Amino acid sequence: MTVRELPSPTLDDAVGWTRTHLGDLVCDDVAASRSFVGGQTAADTALATYDVRGYAARRNQVFPVSARGASRLSPFIRHGLLTLPRVWDHVADGPSRDVAKFRDELLWQEYARHLYARTGGTSRSLRYGVREHGGAARRESGMACMDVVRDELLHDGWLVNQTRMWFASHWTVRLGNGWRDGEDHFFAHLLDGSRAANRLGWQWTVGAGTGKPYGFSRWQVEKRAPELCAGCELRLACPVQQWPDDVELVAAAPVPGVVRDPAPVETRGPSQPVVTASADAVWLTAESLGDDDPALVAYPDLPAVFVFDEPLLSRLSLSGKRLVFLAQALADLAERREVRILRGDPVEALADRAVATTYAPVPGWTTRATRVAPVSVHPWPWLVEPHSGSAASFTAWRRAARV
Ligand SMILES: Cc1cc2nc3c(=O)[nH]c(=O)nc-3n(C[C@H](O)[C@H](O)[C@H](O)COP(=O)(O)OP(=O)(O)OC[C@H]3O[C@@H](n4cnc5c(N)ncnc54)[C@H](O)[C@@H]3O)c2cc1C
Repeated sequence: MTVRELPSPTLDDAVGWTRTHLGDLVCDDVAASRSFVGGQTAADTALATYDVRGYAARRNQVFPVSARGASRLSPFIRHGLLTLPRVWDHVADGPSRDVAKFRDELLWQEYARHLYARTGGTSRSLRYGVREHGGAARRESGMACMDVVRDELLHDGWLVNQTRMWFASHWTVRLGNGWRDGEDHFFAHLLDGSRAANRLGWQWTVGAGTGKPYGFSRWQVEKRAPELCAGCELRLACPVQQWPDDVELVAAAPVPGVVRDPAPVETRGPSQPVVTASADAVWLTAESLGDDDPALVAYPDLPAVFVFDEPLLSRLSLSGKRLVFLAQALADLAERREVRILRGDPVEALADRAVATTYAPVPGWTTRATRVAPVSVHPWPWLVEPHSGSAASFTAWRRAARV
């Protein structure tokens, strides 16, 4: 596969740039998210203007939009533009109930990362398999509650947690479709799409970890977004008027690493920089694009290199808005540092360079880094140290982590 160097995008032309250079790798017409711009500058602004007050009461609110308590920080957290420790500290002065609830959610993100890393990114059901009866007609058409999810997913690339659960439950528990297909659909469009949190969210919804599926019915919509039901053409024939039937769960063989991590040191990655030679560039990954990426900080004078992984992207067939978000992040960084952008297989693209990089707790990083052989690897900024205790549930993981 050939490796090509691409010119740098600008913030103003990130859409055109993505269309020209990456348009053949995406599943739709390239467009920017309707409501998010990528980059450290946008991330810093989002964090500086975020006030946690009212979070506990309003985090589940869906409509009106002005009543939502969600922070909308997830796309920046996903790509390391905001680290979990930084976001954790930012809310320190808020009302204690809101701070506690918000920090619980940050811990859910950290739990998802630990679980994903220690199970090697498996897509197996954690503890319970779900019998799919599949093929049911996708009866969300005409339902205002599902139409709004589809619209926000496709055009914003972001959903509040509540509507993610509605959609995932409707897709699986009621319609009997497979959770992995639903997960892939979300992953293609969500700007915060990560296998770690997305997979956990879908598994949690179908009850694959807890044995208790999340049921979705009109009741939640009336409670969290009453205006949707009021204006819905199906309000007198609502397909989700009643709770869904129980789904059949079957005990699945335990996934190695869930109950006990035999190698927490490997899950963790290095706790100190591991430097074997001098570096000539900093390899940035989509996990860690922030100015405070530890390798970028350690080498302030080296150029940053980012590789659009062509084999991976052609397999994933993501929405263009996800790549526009990344292009915006690189354009923003290029205003402060030299940034080189390549397209191809990262292993080939980096073969003749001595790179410094930051460890990322995802199997794809390990696979590539083993072959790229960076000369300098920097620690991942964990919020909670990985431990060997149980991660069979959030509560068990948290207890073992003593947080
Ligand atoms: C089916 C499904 C799929 C999901 N897919 C993703 C995904 O791909 N990426 C992703 O980051 N989150 C995912 N989530 C979790 C959650 O919905 C989003 O993190 C949250 O809605 C992001 O919005 P926010 O930043 O306003 O969150 P806030 O409510 O403001 O929370 C602050 C931060 O805490 C973390 N967080 C909050 N809730 C959760 C949660 N349930 N699990 C893990 N972390 C959480 C996120 O980092 C979030 O940015 C999914 C949830 C479900 C039910």
